[in-house]
Amino acid sequence: MDNALKKSAFVAGKSIHILSEVVANKIAAGEVVERPASVLKELIENALDAGATQIDVQVVYGGRRLISVSDNGCGMGRDDALLSVERHATSKIRDLADLERIATLGFRGEALAAIASVARFRLLTRRGSDLMGSELLISGGKIQEVRDTGCPPGTAVEVRDLFFNVPARRKFLRSEQTELVHLRQVFMTYGLAHPAIGMKLTIDDRLITNLAPGATLEERRRDLFSFLAPADLRPVNHFRGGVRLTGQVALPAVSRADRAEQYVFVNGRPASAAVLSAAIREGYHTLLPRDRYPIVFLFLELDPTLVDVNVHPTKREVRFHSPGQVREAVTAAVREALALEGGFVPQTIGQLVPTPAGEHPPLAGFAPAAPERRFPYPAPRGANAGTAAPLTPPMPGTSAVAPEAPASGAGAARLGAPAAPWAWCRILGQIGNLYVVMETEDGLALMDPHAAHERVLYERFMAQVSKGQIESQLLLVPETVELSPHDALQLCRHLELLKRLGFGIAEFGGDTFVVDALPRCFQSASAKALLTDLAAILTTAGEKRSADHLLEEQIAQAACKAAVKAQEQLTLPEIDELVKQLARTEMPYTCPHGRPTLIHTSFQELAKKFARQ
Ligand code: ADP
Ligand code: MG
Repeated sequence: MDNALKKSAFVAGKSIHILSEVVANKIAAGEVVERPASVLKELIENALDAGATQIDVQVVYGGRRLISVSDNGCGMGRDDALLSVERHATSKIRDLADLERIATLGFRGEALAAIASVARFRLLTRRGSDLMGSELLISGGKIQEVRDTGCPPGTAVEVRDLFFNVPARRKFLRSEQTELVHLRQVFMTYGLAHPAIGMKLTIDDRLITNLAPGATLEERRRDLFSFLAPADLRPVNHFRGGVRLTGQVALPAVSRADRAEQYVFVNGRPASAAVLSAAIREGYHTLLPRDRYPIVFLFLELDPTLVDVNVHPTKREVRFHSPGQVREAVTAAVREALALEGGFVPQTIGQLVPTPAGEHPPLAGFAPAAPERRFPYPAPRGANAGTAAPLTPPMPGTSAVAPEAPASGAGAARLGAPAAPWAWCRILGQIGNLYVVMETEDGLALMDPHAAHERVLYERFMAQVSKGQIESQLLLVPETVELSPHDALQLCRHLELLKRLGFGIAEFGGDTFVVDALPRCFQSASAKALLTDLAAILTTAGEKRSADHLLEEQIAQAACKAAVKAQEQLTLPEIDELVKQLARTEMPYTCPHGRPTLIHTSFQELAKKFARQ
C-alpha cells in the first residue's frame, strides 16, 4: 500500500502530460456510462436526434451481453461515422451560442466515444442517399475494422460485453433482473415522451413491447403503464409564465411510497430538478401524507434559452433561469388538474369517511357527511368551519354510551392490563368526521381511529408471526394485480417471505401476480394497493439489507396501513371495539409508524387552564 502510494506520487510528481484519447474516453465513460441502462439512454437519444420514426431495442442478459439499438434515422456517411466515435465530436452544436439553446437530446459529443471505450462496439450506418453503408468495429476504444457494408438506411449500434475491460465497474453491476428493470424504465420513459415514434423492445430474443408509431400520449400511457387505471388519472393542460404543461397526474389515492413513477420531461428531455419535485408536492398540497409520492406524467415546454441542461454529463439534471416561475406553473397545473381550485376535491387518503360509491364527488370545502346508519354522533359545527355540512342528530337508543354506569355500558371498558391508558372510558362522539372524543377516569382523550386501528392490527399480526401461527384468509375471487416492472421485481425477490407471512401470492408471468389469500388481519386491504406498498417497503429495506425479522415488521406496518386505508368508515360498535382493543395493546400510544394514537388532557391540566388551581 505504502509502496503503491509512493509510486503513484512519484509518477504524478514527475511531469504533466495530456492523457491519451483512450484513457480520457474511459474516464469520461465513468460519468456517462454507469450501467447498461445509461448506454440504452444515450443510444435512444441519438436515434431520436437522428429523426428516426422507428427504433428497435434489443438486450440480452440484462444488457451485459448485448444492447442494440437500430433506427431508420438520417444515418451517417463514412467520414461522419468515423468522427462520431471520437470524443467531443458532435453534429448538434457548433459554438457557445448553440449551447444556449439546445434543441437536441445530445450535444456533448461524448456518448459514443465513451461507450466504445468500455465495450465491444459495432456501428452500422447508411444515409438514404448512399449506395453503401459503413461498418465500424471498436473494442475497448481501439478501432479494429472499418469497411463498406450493405445495410438499410439508418443506424444500428451494438454494444457487447459492457465493461469487459473495466473490472471495477463490472463488479458494481447488479443482478440481471435489476439491470433489466432499469433498462425497461429507460425504454418506457422515451416511449412515453415520443408517442409518434414506433418502438420495439426485445429481451433475450423475446419481443416484450411493441409500440405502434403515430400513437397519442394517452395510448402510449395505456400501453406502457397498463397497471394504472385511466380513472385514477387527470389530464394536465396549463400555460403560465411562459411554461406550457401537459400530461397527466394521478389522484392522491394511488400515490406511492417512493418517486419511482414520476415522469417529468422538460422540452422532451427526461429531467429532474429539486424545484420540480417540490412544485409537484406543493400541487398536491395536503392531499398526500408526507411519506407518499404522487404518480405524474408531466411535460414542460419552455424557451430552451431558459433551461440549462449542461449541468451533468448524463444531462438529466436541469437548471432553470427562473425557477420561481417554473415552480408556480407546475404547482398551478397540478392543482388545476386535481381541480383543487375549481371545486372538485378528489378522494383524500386516510379519510375515515370515503365517498360512498356512486355518489357525486363532494364539493371543495365540504367534507362528506357520515351516513346516519354509520356513526350516529353529531359532528359539532366547528368541525367543518364555515360549511353547511349537515349535522346528524344523535339517535336515542343506539348510543352505546352509558355515562352513569361507565363500567357496564358497551361504550365503557374496564381493563385489567397495567399498560392500559385508562381504567374506564366513555366514548362521547366523533369530531371532524374523524377524531374520537372520550372521557376517561382522569381526563379527556382524543383518539385518531386510523392510527389506533393500525396499532391493533399490527400487534395482532406480529403476535401471530412470533407464534408461527398466521391466519390466512382465502379471497372469494382471486385477484390479478399488474405492477410496474420495478415493483414486480421487488415482490418476486421476497415471494417466499410473503408466503410465510400468510400472503397467497404467485407470479402470473410478466409483471402480473395472482393473489388468492391475505393474512386475516389485512383482509380489508385492496390487493393492488397492498402489493404496491409492500414493493416500496421491500425496496428500501432491500437497500439496507435488513434482516428477515425487520422485514417482517416493515411488511406488517405497510400492510396495516393499507388495510386501514381501505377500510370503510367505522361503525359505532367497531369504534367501541377498537377502543377496547387499543387499550389491550402493548404500546397503545403510537401507531406502528410512530404517529400518536391518543392525545390526553388530564382533569388537572384542564383545571389549570380554567384557573381553578
Ligand atoms: P452527441 O449525441 O452528444 O452529439 P454522441 O457521441 O452521442 O454525441 O454522438 C456523436 C455524433 O454521432 C452525433 O452528434 C451524431 O452526429 C452522430 N450519431 C450518433 N448516433 C447517431 C444515429 N443513431 N444516427 C445518426 N447519427 C448519429
Ligand atoms: Mg448522443
